[in-house]
Amino acid sequence: MNVLKFGGTSVGTVSSLENVRSIVESLPSDTVVVVSALGGLTDKLIATAHLAAAGGDWASEADAIAERHYNIIEGIVRQENKANTLNVVDALLDELRRTYEGVSLISDLPAKTLNVIVSLGERMSAPIVAGAIKNARLHNSLDFVKTEKWFDKNIADSILTHNLIVREFADLANGPHVTGGFISQDRDSGEITNLGRGGSDYTAALIAAALDAEMLDIWTDVDGFMTADPRIINDAKVLPSMSFIESMELCTFGAKVIYPPTIYPVFHKNIPIRILNTFNPEAPGTLISDSSDSKDYPVKGVTAVKNTCLVRLSGNLTEHVAQINTRAYNALARNGVSVFLLAQPGENKEFSFAISSSDQGMAYRSLNEEFVPELLDGSLKNISFEENLSTIAVVGEGIRHMKGLDGRILNTLLRLGIRTLACSEGNSDTTASFVVEEKDTVEAIKAIHGLFF
Ligand code: ASP
Ligand code: MG
Repeated sequence: MNVLKFGGTSVGTVSSLENVRSIVESLPSDTVVVVSALGGLTDKLIATAHLAAAGGDWASEADAIAERHYNIIEGIVRQENKANTLNVVDALLDELRRTYEGVSLISDLPAKTLNVIVSLGERMSAPIVAGAIKNARLHNSLDFVKTEKWFDKNIADSILTHNLIVREFADLANGPHVTGGFISQDRDSGEITNLGRGGSDYTAALIAAALDAEMLDIWTDVDGFMTADPRIINDAKVLPSMSFIESMELCTFGAKVIYPPTIYPVFHKNIPIRILNTFNPEAPGTLISDSSDSKDYPVKGVTAVKNTCLVRLSGNLTEHVAQINTRAYNALARNGVSVFLLAQPGENKEFSFAISSSDQGMAYRSLNEEFVPELLDGSLKNISFEENLSTIAVVGEGIRHMKGLDGRILNTLLRLGIRTLACSEGNSDTTASFVVEEKDTVEAIKAIHGLFF
């Protein structure tokens, strides 16, 4: 069986939903379909929540949201399901209005309440899509996708979720099955939570892994993974295939094709992922599996993560490089800060790491705590942060065989007058990364992409 996930643009209009319907109705009845909220709706739900908290006119926004759902129900839901779908969606719209009203009354938007508000996107889209597809059975993801608290984040409790999915879809042949992505429930408190923005892909991967699917199809609005963001590189190419690791690296370093946590559960079970285009279903798409086409495409792509912050430890650190790196890395990891580039220390023995700007405060606290002895005895002089940077990544399993790759890239950037503040340790693995100033992002991507494609 296959699990299919359709993103917001795929379920955003009556005409795109017609494509979804014909794709799903052509497949066997054990197919599981995971859907996002209608395109753009999650952003709208959030913006309206803030508007309500600020005393603005949330009611007309809520009317527009209702109108959009009614039009889609009218245009796509099967006649025999219409009354029931309308009832379900009406009750949810009512919950939405009451919640906005509450937010407006208290002029405050608690995180818990915002989670309820955003959940309504998928809670409404799933019954609509189910109502549009012949014989479809609707499932409620809140019943089987469970999260636990981890610092201030909600993360999936994968074992519990796995067991609940197996139970929920026991009668698999009797579908197709439709469920909402992204939304979840705290396993302890029962509060509504979610898997993070873009999390519908992850829901689909959890289901595919639990049901031992043959394939996870991510239906989106592009022809597949590309060698770069096509808004920056207008002749960027679609990649026919790549490995799990390559896709993971590309997504971690800014490719917006799939939500990064999606890859782990299916990678673990060796279930391939296909990226397909709802608006061009004949296109071959990109196949992500355990093998990589390193001959035609030794490099798969060039990506960038903006909002990079470079942390520098400077002083006369006597310990081994590896020890300092490990201590810093562990201290950050313990506090939920991920490091996406560990730079090699230069002559001045300065250690630097790239993190996301949003983690700066936490990084400051954890490193100051970890290096108390060194700060006291003076061997560590300073922990400093530089902001407004981007990390540019070159990803491909073929790069480990490319001699002098770092040098070539550094020279290219230098010739263009682009300052490189750090570069990753060697290029022995799948990714070589470089930190540049944020203002140079586009120029750096163009120059580096030009070296390979
Ligand atoms: N609707 C959610 C979002 O916009 C989840 C998703 O589409 O994957 O982030
Ligand atoms: Mg997405």
